[in-house]
Amino acid sequence: MVRENEIRQNEVAVSPPEPVDAGLVFIGRIRTPWDQRLLCPRQGRADGPLCRIEIFEPWDQALRGVEAFERLEVLYWLDRSRRDLVLQSPGSNGKVHGTFSLRSPVRPNPIGTSIVHLERVEGNVLFVRGLDCLDGTPLLDLKPDRSLFKPIAPPQPGDYETGETAT
Ligand code: SAM
Repeated sequence: MVRENEIRQNEVAVSPPEPVDAGLVFIGRIRTPWDQRLLCPRQGRADGPLCRIEIFEPWDQALRGVEAFERLEVLYWLDRSRRDLVLQSPGSNGKVHGTFSLRSPVRPNPIGTSIVHLERVEGNVLFVRGLDCLDGTPLLDLKPDRSLFKPIAPPQPGDYETGETAT
């Protein structure tokens, strides 16, 4: 894992294509107590500090109903990450791991996810615990924690399929 964009022993960087951010829209901004990567938690914790998620207009209208969920899944853009490492050494000890076997912020598309505990909603602002990102990190999406969510739309055939298919 990279903490300050350095390359460590045995880490491997590639020359990635020019990043195109897939037309993503930043729908808000996350406010946390951390202004340096080295101070952030590696993973958020349910009893961590209270953080704010500010939703921009017009997406604030999309908050209707979120207060019914005790936990939300938050997706965010780890905007200060490098994106070119395929092998990383989180232990800084020469032992390397493939990027996709890690939850490092360094990845081709630096999407971070956390399950947060929702304390309250005030207008366009959610107060949550469980984040691990820098102050000002752009917000990509919010969803109910899947373990709390029952689809409202009627079931469809794939919902009943079991067994093996390899295509
Ligand atoms: N919980 C998320 C996940 O599992 O997808 C992110 C985990 S990642 C290990 C968390 C680390 O990313 C933090 O400790 C910090 O070093 C780094 N980080 C946080 N916010 C960042 C940002 N906006 N840009 C780049 N790195 C960031």
